[in-house]
Amino acid sequence: MAQKIGILGAGESGVGAALLAKKQGLDFYFSDLNPLAEKFREELDNNQIECEIGKHDIQQLLTCEYVVKSPGIPNKAPIVKAIEQAGIPIMSEIEFAGRYTTAKIVAITGSNGKTTTTALTGHLLKKAGLSVGVGGNIGKSFARLLAEEEEKDIYVLEISSFQCDHLINFRPHIAVITNFSPDHLDRYNYEMEQYVAAKFKLIKNMQASDYFIYNTEDEWTTKTMAQYPPNCKCLGFSTHKNNQSQAWLDENNHLILSLDNNEIMKFEERSLPGTHNAQNSMASSMAARLLQVRKESIRESLMNFDSLEHRLEPAGTIRGIHFINDSKATNVNATWYALESVSKPIIWIAGGVDKGNDYTELIPLIEKKVKAIVCLGIDNKKLMDEFTGRVKVITETRDMEKAVKMAFSLGQKGDTVMLSPACASFDLFSNYEDRGQQFKYWVRQL
Ligand code: ADP
Repeated sequence: MAQKIGILGAGESGVGAALLAKKQGLDFYFSDLNPLAEKFREELDNNQIECEIGKHDIQQLLTCEYVVKSPGIPNKAPIVKAIEQAGIPIMSEIEFAGRYTTAKIVAITGSNGKTTTTALTGHLLKKAGLSVGVGGNIGKSFARLLAEEEEKDIYVLEISSFQCDHLINFRPHIAVITNFSPDHLDRYNYEMEQYVAAKFKLIKNMQASDYFIYNTEDEWTTKTMAQYPPNCKCLGFSTHKNNQSQAWLDENNHLILSLDNNEIMKFEERSLPGTHNAQNSMASSMAARLLQVRKESIRESLMNFDSLEHRLEPAGTIRGIHFINDSKATNVNATWYALESVSKPIIWIAGGVDKGNDYTELIPLIEKKVKAIVCLGIDNKKLMDEFTGRVKVITETRDMEKAVKMAFSLGQKGDTVMLSPACASFDLFSNYEDRGQQFKYWVRQL
């Protein structure tokens, strides 16, 4: 008899898992507590896939060999506990999908830069003519890629920490951890160690023929590597050359790569601005080299990669004032790199839902570069308290239209207005995309 499995959660990853389970001829029970999004309802109907809505039937789940859990369902949820107590293995959709392909996998995680590094790596490989699928936590889920498309030779996957939580045998050929800064700690008992440990599960099955690409300047990464030495080859990148780095920036900010036989490659130009994007570019170029992409191809692709929406995205220049949309910066570390990347005087639009931010590390940059702050959130007290007296002007609003107009009126030719909130968006917006779209809309209206 066909194996029966459970699939919990009907978002992109659960629906992808259901499509793949169907393709593989598996018998499965599929459920979600919340109503289905319309696009998924239609898709499931078209594929004759049933999904129980409003409950997870524990009796059904107890008959399953294993359960594929969507990353949105917290590990503490009663249904997850009940399945665990019954001794039924729980896996993430990445683990499940990984069992149905022998393609090489490049898996990318970290606190910031996952999406950029994943998209850029995909770009480097595709431009070199390789057969590549890109997805995971961006675009299509891994399971959906396998269910819907012809199998590729390589998959480049963005993996969130929640997706790392339930990996069992998953083994990437190349893994990247971009960096660590506090994020999502509410799901990890407010302990950074637990959050870091979750992401490190990505590399636990890797072997001597695999490669782990890491940031040698990231303390949480190096500390954890010392504690749990990886079994695979480790290749480091850094902004300043050190003994561990095989990729670094030279004094002219050129990207240097020295992976094999000490051959040194130099890439002078990159389309993506900022030190953080130089780090992402190093990780992506290392992965591309390991997959035999030629130097000339890497060089060209680094120069013609378009910046992603909502990540240091140029949003126009009006009367000599540049507008930048970095709405995806939902934590302090991302905003630090955004402010660092601009040399002009900055009018900074910040605020939203603060996830326990410590703004101290921003202070030197703020004092040096920021001439005015527009706080944009329902509760702006923390930002106002922290920065009043450190910049010439600090003001607040709960409205994007006003925020853009205030920032514009505070600016002069040569200034940069930067939306880089360091906070989540859901006090005033549906998500970071909505926040970024509204910013761009009001800039266009100026
Ligand atoms: P993620 O997918 O990990 O959230 P993104 O590539 O979407 O990462 O970028 C999220 C935010 O972090 C953006 O504001 C971006 O400018 C910033 N960022 C990108 N790469 C890095 C990095 N390596 N270090 C710090 N911040 C980064």
